[in-house]
Amino acid sequence: MQRKVHRRHPRGRPSGASLRYQARHKAMGLCSVCPRPLAGGSMVYCTWHLEKNRQRKRRLRGPILCRRCRKPLRESERGPGRRYHPRCSRALIGERERSPGYRRLHAEAARAYQLRHAAQGLCTQCPRPVVPGKGVCRRHLRYRQERYRRLKALGKLSGSVREAAPIGVNRQEERVRTRRS
Ligand SMILES: [Zn+2]
Ligand SMILES: [Zn+2]
Ligand SMILES: [Zn+2]
Repeated sequence: MQRKVHRRHPRGRPSGASLRYQARHKAMGLCSVCPRPLAGGSMVYCTWHLEKNRQRKRRLRGPILCRRCRKPLRESERGPGRRYHPRCSRALIGERERSPGYRRLHAEAARAYQLRHAAQGLCTQCPRPVVPGKGVCRRHLRYRQERYRRLKALGKLSGSVREAAPIGVNRQEERVRTRRS
């Protein structure tokens, strides 16, 4: 077995000898820079060199600062495209959803969805066809009627049944719809 440890070419380019060394090691299922066996899952390095490489990369890439709190991300919190602490990311989503701008946008989107569906003869809450003359599908009509009855029983009813209908857009179903069309 080859015991010699591979050395880099002085100018940083691998020499013919080192390429031959790598090819030979690869064929034998060994690390491409030392005589240890390949790590499971790696085609290039042994466990030791894999870890060494990982540490080197970690040193080189430097800290990533969270875009919200400006503190560095922990090693376990880092990942491709990760720029926030998990906690900061969740907080940010909450803040965004509570902001007036977001709420306005959401209301506008819901309104546009309802208008679009009404024009197509679909339920204003979901992509199902409407019950003629009702503006919503059978399922949402039933929700509306249940809600109406519940409110009436509580004596909290003011205005028409239409106003008592649940507002809100089923975004999941909307996405499925747009993908299909
Ligand atoms: Zn190695
Ligand atoms: Zn943070
Ligand atoms: Zn519906």
